[in-house]
Amino acid sequence: MEINGKTELFCLIGSPVGHSGSPAMYNYSFQKTNLNCAYLAFDVKLEETEAAVNGLKTLGCSGFNVTMPCKTRAAELADELSDAAALIGACNTMVIKDGKLYGHNTDGIGFVKNLKEHGVDVKDKVMTVMGAGGAATAIQVQSALEGAREIHIFNRRDEFYANAENTAKKIEERVPGVKVNVYPLEDEQKLYEKIGESHILVNATKVGMKPMEEESLIKDTRVFRENLVVADAVYNPRETKMLQEAQAAGCKIALGGIGMLLRQGEAAFRIFTGENMPTEEVYEKFF
Ligand code: NAD
Repeated sequence: MEINGKTELFCLIGSPVGHSGSPAMYNYSFQKTNLNCAYLAFDVKLEETEAAVNGLKTLGCSGFNVTMPCKTRAAELADELSDAAALIGACNTMVIKDGKLYGHNTDGIGFVKNLKEHGVDVKDKVMTVMGAGGAATAIQVQSALEGAREIHIFNRRDEFYANAENTAKKIEERVPGVKVNVYPLEDEQKLYEKIGESHILVNATKVGMKPMEEESLIKDTRVFRENLVVADAVYNPRETKMLQEAQAAGCKIALGGIGMLLRQGEAAFRIFTGENMPTEEVYEKFF
């Protein structure tokens, strides 16, 4: 990679970013697609978001990814939002063009694309999604935008519960034809009943992620059946307890969160450059 006076800058903002795999992934992809672009990571705290974004605009940065804790603030700063970013209220991918800031959210796009890569289309499907945080909201919104018929959201009665209700309201107001219901995760009987009516079950909570890797929200594994598609947003560990138990119970499709992570990056690369990321190579080298 040769950096010169015409090299375009892309970057990641958020805090912490030191552990991020994004610079390696994007710089490799720029090189492979012969693009004169470079990608850096900048540690930006929440209260620094606006100053950082203004600085990037001034310097002519072409686009940037946003991670925690800046995603919601970034959406507030955008001049225009994609439908998904507007409904989610958070951005992970932003483009600067002619001084204007365009906000996108590719997390849900990554989730839906990963399912498609495994032969599953969310269109007309009934889904049960556990969770109401960032990942869950993105999955719920994108699934609704791509034609899911009904979404059952389950979350424990914590500080995220109101977010689930808010997401349900926004989706029903703005996406015609989708029904969204919210239930407390504590109502296990209701959870199993709704999974029984669903084509797709998703865990988008932190349960199953280290240090909760010995836990699964599905205590009664009899709810798993062969044709239930099971997906986890968690990618650390690669295969959560829920996925292992789903497979053991005969579920044909049980997908971890790593595919979603890969595909959200792929989608961001396309938004940034208009080119296809060398996804398979990126997966082999960096995931
Ligand atoms: P968040 O903090 O925004 O939301 C946390 C969610 O977990 C909430 O719904 C909360 O109620 C729930 N939760 C936490 N502890 C719980 C418990 N003990 N019992 C039941 N529910 C509990 O987090 P997030 O950013 O949405 O991340 C959630 C998971 O998704 C993490 O494991 C994260 O690594 C993963 N994630 C994956 C991708 C991907 O691309 N695969 C993208 C984003 C996040």
